[in-house]
Amino acid sequence: MHIGHAHLFIPGPTNIPEDVRRAMVVPMPDHRSPEFAAFFRPIQRDLAPIFGTQKAKIALIPGSGTAAWEAAITNCLSPGDRVLMARHGTFSTLWADMAQRLGLAIELVDLAWGAACPVREFGRRLAQDRHGEIKAVFMTHNETATGVTSDVAALRHELDAAMHDALLFVDGVSSIGSVPFEMDAWGVDLAVTGTQKGLMCPAGLGILALSEKAIAAMDTARGARAFFDVKALLAAHDAGSFPYTPPAPVLYGLRAALDRMAAETLPAVYARHRRLAEGVRAGVAAWGLQTVAENTIIASNTVTAIRTPDDVDAREVIATARTRYHTFFGAGLGPLAGKAFRIGHLGDLNEGSVLTALAVAEMALVQNGTKITLGAGVAAAQTVFGKLAAEPLSIAAE
Ligand SMILES: *Cc1c(COP(=O)(O)O)cnc(C)c1O
Repeated sequence: MHIGHAHLFIPGPTNIPEDVRRAMVVPMPDHRSPEFAAFFRPIQRDLAPIFGTQKAKIALIPGSGTAAWEAAITNCLSPGDRVLMARHGTFSTLWADMAQRLGLAIELVDLAWGAACPVREFGRRLAQDRHGEIKAVFMTHNETATGVTSDVAALRHELDAAMHDALLFVDGVSSIGSVPFEMDAWGVDLAVTGTQKGLMCPAGLGILALSEKAIAAMDTARGARAFFDVKALLAAHDAGSFPYTPPAPVLYGLRAALDRMAAETLPAVYARHRRLAEGVRAGVAAWGLQTVAENTIIASNTVTAIRTPDDVDAREVIATARTRYHTFFGAGLGPLAGKAFRIGHLGDLNEGSVLTALAVAEMALVQNGTKITLGAGVAAAQTVFGKLAAEPLSIAAE
């Protein structure tokens, strides 16, 4: 038995606020009733600003983010279509693997884990593609395995500069709802997220936002789809329901989470994530450790992956935090296993939560032989929080 709260600092699922948790423990609705329709429609409406869209259609698919990945591919593309993808972490790699299994012809750019999406290289390839054979370009907005955020607006700029009309697909699973996302302004055609990260709910729904162009692509795309038929899903949504039984508790939780975000206001949500991330990065710098992210400009405001020294196994650090302090950090994934651990700082967290993460990480690091000074990272973050708290929110949100 553990006494006290578990401290969850994995980058998803994230902490579920008490009011969201309570909202889910209620009797089940009739999902074909007018009352359900009246409950469901505002959820779609209130998700729109989180995607930064007034134009896109929003579809909620039972499943996790991975389900939304699959729906994106099978509904808008055809087997044999050429697409541009990069691999620079677990999630970008998994989406590319899926695209391959679904029969797409992938033009792949492999990068160091810790690098951002190669926007310039994508631009070069798009410019060379004179006959428009590339049907879609994929970006992992926030690579959760490495703590790297890529520049969606810059990729849109490359597409426009090459006068290329490929669809722009963006995985925003660990960014949407935590950092600014501007689907319309960035000309994103298809954005994907899930309920269990920035949206502070359990896993259970993948969420897709589709531009007019993505919706038009569904008419000609020949990807095989059955359960994940987005057209059928959107038609059911228009009638205020689902083509099958939705996970109602997750929707109730989502309603409560959206209400929380509206009360905090999105600029304040984004400012808080930036502030907490800056605190974590100051802590890591004070330890003298390296982030997996190659530089601060691309460092994520939702998750930080931290390299342990060569003689310190990150798995042991994670195990110490878990077993001695009931605190959960994200593992180093793939080639980073044993070499890095991750602090997730997205969702329902504040300065005190992040200071706990840093304090426990310091103990776990020192107990596994890392030569850092206890308290150094905590103090650095406290200093950052003291300074940033004085900034008006509108400045901090930029
Ligand atoms: C979590 C995550 C996913 C999807 O994972 P699920 O477990 O299927 O929800 C996809 N992409 C990124 C960047 C993620 O962080």
